[in-house]
Amino acid sequence: MRIKDKKRFVIACSGLVILLILIIVVVIIGFGHKNNTNGSADNQKNLPSSAAQTPTSNKSESATNSPSKSTETTMDITTTDSLTMLVNKNHPIPESYVPADLITVDLPSTRDTQLRTVAAAGLTKLFDAASEAGLELYCCSGYRSYETQSELYDWNVSTYGVEGADLVSAQPGKSEHQLGLAMDVTSASVDFDLLESFGTTAEGQFIKDNAYKYGFIVRYPQGKTDITGYAYEPWHLRYLGVDVATDIYNSGKTMEEYFGTN
Ligand SMILES: [Zn+2]
Repeated sequence: MRIKDKKRFVIACSGLVILLILIIVVVIIGFGHKNNTNGSADNQKNLPSSAAQTPTSNKSESATNSPSKSTETTMDITTTDSLTMLVNKNHPIPESYVPADLITVDLPSTRDTQLRTVAAAGLTKLFDAASEAGLELYCCSGYRSYETQSELYDWNVSTYGVEGADLVSAQPGKSEHQLGLAMDVTSASVDFDLLESFGTTAEGQFIKDNAYKYGFIVRYPQGKTDITGYAYEPWHLRYLGVDVATDIYNSGKTMEEYFGTN
């Protein structure tokens, strides 16, 4: 081979090598791209599963929406199971009504007391908050059946006469206690009794200022007897749910005034 031919041969070889390298590079890139495509195919495979998760997150969204829906339904003041059912001397409840979800409250009590589940949960939080403030509350009277209310009213009539009884005790079928959404609370400072002076105790003040945060209102405030029909009862808590209780608390109104009825 002549030197010129040798040079040509070397150039040709180098050209071939470069071409080979180029082909290898192209193949590698192509393979890598294929892999990437596979990767995104996996991602696409993941997509349906994440898309499958979307209904779940929609579900959880609709679950988050349902409390607001139930808030709407709880503004119902005429259905016995509604948390905002209005019960007073003009709005009785059927003799046969018994809440389906009554539970015995797991809180300090002076006797056996029951509430609807949601109200019991709210009361537990209220008692916990009181406890953190160094105060000890006691349940005194929660759910009362129509029959129990009947006996209680009869006792009050025999003790105070009809007029006196009607001021401090509901006639059967006209007590919030039959809803399972009312609890009378007391403390050692009033000797575990239900007294007006409870309103001036640290426990009574705490309830007045904080009950709404846990869904309760002091249902029969001072100076509102002509509207509520009952004497001041600083111990009687009514559960309405946090939103409505907070709204009523901020309005300074009674339940009757808030709902525009009597
Ligand atoms: Zn009561």
